[in-house]
Amino acid sequence: MSAGPDVIPHSRPTLEDEDIQALIGVAQSGQVAQGPRVEEFERAMAAFVGVDGAVAVASGSVALELALVALGVGTGDEVIMPSYVCAAPLLAARRVGATPRLVDIHPETYALLVGQVEQAISPRTKALIVVHPFGLAIDLTPFQSFHIPIVEDCAATLGVGVNGRLVGRGGTVAICSFYATKLLCTGEGGMVMSDDPALVDRARKLRGYDEAPTLDHAAFNRKMTDLAAGLGLAQLRRLRGFIARREAVAALYHEALADVDVRRPIIPPGQEHAYHRFIVGLNPGAGGTGSERLETVLRRMERRGIQCRRPVFRPLHRYLDLEGFPETERVHQTAVSLPIYPSLGDQDVARVAEALREELG
Ligand SMILES: *Cc1c(COP(=O)(O)O)cnc(C)c1O
Repeated sequence: MSAGPDVIPHSRPTLEDEDIQALIGVAQSGQVAQGPRVEEFERAMAAFVGVDGAVAVASGSVALELALVALGVGTGDEVIMPSYVCAAPLLAARRVGATPRLVDIHPETYALLVGQVEQAISPRTKALIVVHPFGLAIDLTPFQSFHIPIVEDCAATLGVGVNGRLVGRGGTVAICSFYATKLLCTGEGGMVMSDDPALVDRARKLRGYDEAPTLDHAAFNRKMTDLAAGLGLAQLRRLRGFIARREAVAALYHEALADVDVRRPIIPPGQEHAYHRFIVGLNPGAGGTGSERLETVLRRMERRGIQCRRPVFRPLHRYLDLEGFPETERVHQTAVSLPIYPSLGDQDVARVAEALREELG
């Protein structure tokens, strides 16, 4: 369904005059491919996250791939990751020749379960991808004690932290995505970030193939354009405001849904939420069980002009035909992602909440 005037889309990038002006400025400069703005964007993101080095690339998926290569992950190695996430971490592991090892999640925070990670560790484990799920900053301390290189996936979670420590600095390397619907948008784009200069250098060398004295067969064109970086810089200047508005929208949802029969997001003490997604859990009730009921709610909301989505289209263990993962399965059959973005108005929030109340009433 296309977004007509009365349709509330599930996601929407915040593109304003500053962004248009930034893009025009880059176009007028004549330097549109990777150039000085990409460098400036890397420095600005490194400063924002609080890391020493950053390498801008074509997407978050590419950032994951380069993070793994730069860590030395390759054929025969294993990479641990949650099952409840988009396919990018799995595909990145496969691209470097590694085997993904999937782990179940916490039913309310969607965070990797520490005990399950511990059980998944083998002598071949070369990396652990910790996803900060849907905007919630996860405490990395329990994962650090495993002494396995951690890739922090900050694709959905930036600018928030745990006990005052921002995400992106707790692992060996962090990645983020600037896809259209993420917290900060460059259309497509991503970044590899780390305090380890050798790791940053490896990622940078693999990003392009130009002017290399010898041919590195792992190198490829994975670059970001100056057009994208110019947009990213304009967005980054307003990222704090974007997150503040998302938090305000979330507060309105919490209030409006207080007496609606759904489970609202919980935030454990000390953790912050950037609300990339506002996910509610359907309780057992009338209208069929599990997936059937979820499909009905999604369809009825769509008919009312409100686009809700499954937070994850298909859990990774289903792609791999693996049994188990009870928490991921339960979440997949009950979780609904409601529209949330900075340009969502207070009245839109009220309309979504009211529609949900009527559908579940
Ligand atoms: C979006 C996303 C990615 C992939 O980023 P792309 O830029 O779309 O390739 C990876 N991990 C998570 C958690 C994401 O949300």
